[in-house]
Amino acid sequence: MLKFLGSGSAFNAKRGNTSGYMEFAGELFLFDAGNDVFGKLMKLNLLEKKARVNIFITHLHSDHVGSLGTIIDYLYFKVYKQDMSNICVYFPSEAIADLLAMQGVPRDHYNLFVNKWDELYLPTLGRKQPEYAFYETGHTANLDYEGHTNTYSIEFMLENEFSFFYSGDTAEYHEKLQNIYLYDQIYHEVTMMENSDVHMSYERLLEKTSHLSKEERSRFHLMHLEEEFDIERAKVDGFQIVENIEIM
Ligand SMILES: [Zn+2]
Ligand SMILES: [Zn+2]
Repeated sequence: MLKFLGSGSAFNAKRGNTSGYMEFAGELFLFDAGNDVFGKLMKLNLLEKKARVNIFITHLHSDHVGSLGTIIDYLYFKVYKQDMSNICVYFPSEAIADLLAMQGVPRDHYNLFVNKWDELYLPTLGRKQPEYAFYETGHTANLDYEGHTNTYSIEFMLENEFSFFYSGDTAEYHEKLQNIYLYDQIYHEVTMMENSDVHMSYERLLEKTSHLSKEERSRFHLMHLEEEFDIERAKVDGFQIVENIEIM
């Protein structure tokens, strides 16, 4: 369902910053916008001729949000000619507006949606509309502010059409994943580091999915991969590996 501009961990420059996207109903849906994402969006012309651009952010690490200010500025000045109506950012904390403000991107250049759950309204669709939900989930205490973790996994679905779970960065196996049949695809971050309390260690993911058949496990698409991640092992265990879309 999602295509990926990048699928690497923060320091994996080869795979680039993990970022998924979908073009749907004339709109762009982008999941995370890390440091190297703007250039790829430009090369693929993904910001042009969209009725609306929707950017979902999982957390404020720069490998997930580093391009956001530039993307908003480009959309505001070059694409939509100083009209903010179709530039939409989704993140459940006003903190993202503070970050953008310090980068010189004022609040009246984009719409910020801080709801943890909502239904979208895509004019070309009928009564049935996509819904999203942000689930707070543990990552690193360095991102804990406003008295909570401020790191999220995202669920995105259109009833009877598609549904997926996008983990963002987290060491937690979210309780929603107890029922993998809720989702067509589960995009999950993973690390080869053992017992990480910041990222999902591969061993923990194996253990949490040990009751699943290989076919069921293939709903998991692993992303945010380190250079040394053992792809062949993960494939043998039944997981799918996120690969980047080809960019000329
Ligand atoms: Zn990351
Ligand atoms: Zn992170």
